[in-house]
Amino acid sequence: MKDKLLNDIALSPVIDFNDTQTQKSYERWIRKSKLIHVRAISALTAILYIVATITDHLIAPPEILSQLTLFHLYILPPFLFSIFLLTFKKQFISLTQLLLMTAPVVATVGNLLVTTHLEHPAMRLTEIYLIIFWVFTVSGLRLWPATISASLIVATTCSMFVLYFNLPLEDFVMHCFWLLSSFSFGFLAAFLLEHSYKTIFVHQEYLKLLADTDKLTGLFNRSKLDILLKKELKRSQRYESPFGLILIDFDYFKDINDTYGHQVGDEVLIEIAELLREHLRVNDIAVRWGGEEFIIVYLDIKKEELLKLAHELCKKIEDHQFKKVGKQTASIGVTLFHKNDTINKIIKRADQALYEAKSSGRNRVVFH
Ligand code: GH3
Ligand code: MG
Ligand code: MG
Repeated sequence: MKDKLLNDIALSPVIDFNDTQTQKSYERWIRKSKLIHVRAISALTAILYIVATITDHLIAPPEILSQLTLFHLYILPPFLFSIFLLTFKKQFISLTQLLLMTAPVVATVGNLLVTTHLEHPAMRLTEIYLIIFWVFTVSGLRLWPATISASLIVATTCSMFVLYFNLPLEDFVMHCFWLLSSFSFGFLAAFLLEHSYKTIFVHQEYLKLLADTDKLTGLFNRSKLDILLKKELKRSQRYESPFGLILIDFDYFKDINDTYGHQVGDEVLIEIAELLREHLRVNDIAVRWGGEEFIIVYLDIKKEELLKLAHELCKKIEDHQFKKVGKQTASIGVTLFHKNDTINKIIKRADQALYEAKSSGRNRVVFH
């Protein structure tokens, strides 16, 4: 996620995630955020339809009462309560969305079937405009599923007007105008909502990135290491798949700062971070531990492989020609996960190994 993206979204009406990974994590995030929303809305709508049955008995014309009760009590509330229950099962998320798209279409068809029997259907048809607004702004559907559902509602309503209703021309025009208005207002509101969700997501991801990474090198920082190590400890204890940890300290770094200045020292740190990145295997994690000290966590590794990689890295740093300060070296403390380890114990062992590497002459690897 780039700073530029953060600036662009304030101005751009359409936010497009260019990389598929960001798109996927947005999809996961939005689905999770909408789950509680859909749960609450489906329950509330079901309850309101039950309340509508009571008002139907008080105000509806007797000739349509039985059909109204069929839709408002026996079809729509069970439909909506099923959606409510499905939101508790993550594996039914797609089915929940499909039913959420279908429920308002069923409600519309129900309304139209009932109102065809009325001599003056205008008042009761207003429910359809409320349904369209519900689809776009209340239901919790994303922009495109909501648009499909609302388009089906508009298409069904217009077809039924032509085929089954004997509306006077002025009533027909008025209803078409109201359909168009509720659809366009609803679409705009849903579009703006989607934009707001994306903006929140981008800001949230950016803050996460700031919280997890070291600004100078772009590597993970100490607090992120804490989270990753806790996870890794649990995983290693459960599956008995040990991980290795190495602590790297640049040799005589103070001299670089003193000789070339702090700015050049910073450039050297960026170059080291690049060397570490090149050295990582797919799932390994590199962290700036502080100052000119770095940690690499090697996942699922045995002692021989771990030592081989640590020696390779030591040699890689020794052989590297730093742009402004030439040849330099680093010392490396290495340790492997033990059963019943804690984070402090692992770091302490690596630190002792590093201390030995320094005191025995530097530019070397020591295992503890
Ligand atoms: P040794 O071989 O014993 O490790 O010697 P050293 O000079 O590297 O000693 P030490 O590790 O104690 O020194 C670390 C130095 O790193 C001290 C500090 O000025 C410098 N340093 C820490 N953070 C930064 C930074 O962000 N930028 C720069 N340029 N220097 C830093
Ligand atoms: Mg140091
Ligand atoms: Mg040092």
